[in-house]
Amino acid sequence: MSYKAINPYNGELIREFAATSDQEVEAALKNAELFYQTAKKEPISKRAALLARLATEFTDHLEKYARYLTTNMGKRIDEARSEVKKNAAFANYYVHAGEKALKNQTYSNAAGKTAQLEFSSIGAILSVEPWNFPYTQIMRVFAPNFILGNPVLLKHASIVPECAQAFEDACHAAGLPAGAFKNLFVDYDQVNKIIADPRVQGVALTGSEKAGATLAAEAGKNLKKSTMELGGTDVCIVLNDAELETAIAGAVSARLNNAGQVCTAAKRYLVQSKIYDKFLAGIIAEFKQKKLGDPLDEQTTLAPLSSKKAQQNLQKQVANVLAGGSKVLWGDPRPVEGPGAFFNPLIITGMTFDNPMYDTELFGPVAQIYKVDTEAEMLKIANHSNYGLGGAIYSQDAQHAQQLASQVETGQIAINQPLSSHPEFPFGGVKKSGYGRELSDLGIREFANIKTILK
Ligand code: NDP
Repeated sequence: MSYKAINPYNGELIREFAATSDQEVEAALKNAELFYQTAKKEPISKRAALLARLATEFTDHLEKYARYLTTNMGKRIDEARSEVKKNAAFANYYVHAGEKALKNQTYSNAAGKTAQLEFSSIGAILSVEPWNFPYTQIMRVFAPNFILGNPVLLKHASIVPECAQAFEDACHAAGLPAGAFKNLFVDYDQVNKIIADPRVQGVALTGSEKAGATLAAEAGKNLKKSTMELGGTDVCIVLNDAELETAIAGAVSARLNNAGQVCTAAKRYLVQSKIYDKFLAGIIAEFKQKKLGDPLDEQTTLAPLSSKKAQQNLQKQVANVLAGGSKVLWGDPRPVEGPGAFFNPLIITGMTFDNPMYDTELFGPVAQIYKVDTEAEMLKIANHSNYGLGGAIYSQDAQHAQQLASQVETGQIAINQPLSSHPEFPFGGVKKSGYGRELSDLGIREFANIKTILK
């Protein structure tokens, strides 16, 4: 398996990394175990101080870290800077809130017994991460586990090796112990061996349903806990009484940010009939403004996809969507020629339940739009999905929107704003979007030993 950084804007090879040998994996496991045993005896405050230094390392060298994102997976440079800042924010959240989330809790029963709950570390966690947010995907797992005292071994997506290396270098620069975090350029067989190793006690994956099913099975076979943050076909529900400008701005950013490569992107717009024409006109006007270009150029408003492979995959998927009976409502579906992994933004209509591509996650700037009369019909479409990750509802009646939100089968949903991740709030899905929660006080307890001490 090769770990190559190839610039998706021009197809140029930036750097190739040597594979991690089995001996190096063993050394990483030994160091991780050492960190685990040492951290148990040390106060959380010591790790919190180091994590704060890691956050500062990223913000102090923001431009350097941002460029790796842009050149490895094509993220627009301003979005890359935002990711570096968010990465630091995720770390800083656990610097301040981690210890509190791990405080002992007391339970009692009617018979007068009490039990104390302690949250403690369990061992190394294998973090398998995707390329769409190369730093924050790691930090979501690393920061809480570092505070808890669990070392993290990383198997990153093979197309973002400079980002994986940069994260490890940042840990080193911030003075973290070597065993706390280790990036491994390993293949799938090595991943399976790492999962089976008794020093590893958990697996955290963000990625596709296919990768999730494979790694969850591997973790299950070894009776290791896992968390799965997988794909989605999130809806953006726009009710007749929505504030039009807010809904349009939210829907566009939720579909086109990160060139549409976001698990919680608004992949399906469900729009009520009376507001449909105005909403569609607004969306088209916004999509028209998007200019494909060099993601390092501040003027570019739509970046290339992460790789040629991603571009070809999406082209094939869109062709299948159209062959299944859907239509292009706006945009040019022809492939964008040239070395860059570009994809024209598209708005697709006429998606039906019997289209074989219905419920396929389209990871790029392709929106589906539905004109719907009733809320009952909206809920039917929203919930006619194997996925259940996120979503959004736009209505000026916030209470009513909340009632509707409760009926959408999803792990999270936003009202009158695009769904986004915040370190204070749990993040995760239901159904084939996975299980477990990242971020917040729940995220830090996912890989904790919740020990009951009965008194
Ligand atoms: P994958 O899910 O295949 O990759 C995610 C991570 O899992 C990568 O590190 C990958 O490594 C690793 N991985 C995949 N299969 C295995 C395995 N059998 N054993 C060990 N590690 C494995 O995502 P892709 O990059 O292939 O993207 C394909 C599609 O997945 C996208 O088009 C999108 O639909 C969805 N996706 C969803 C994401 C989300 O945030 N929910 C993020 C990324 C993708 P490697 O890179 O070496 O294959």
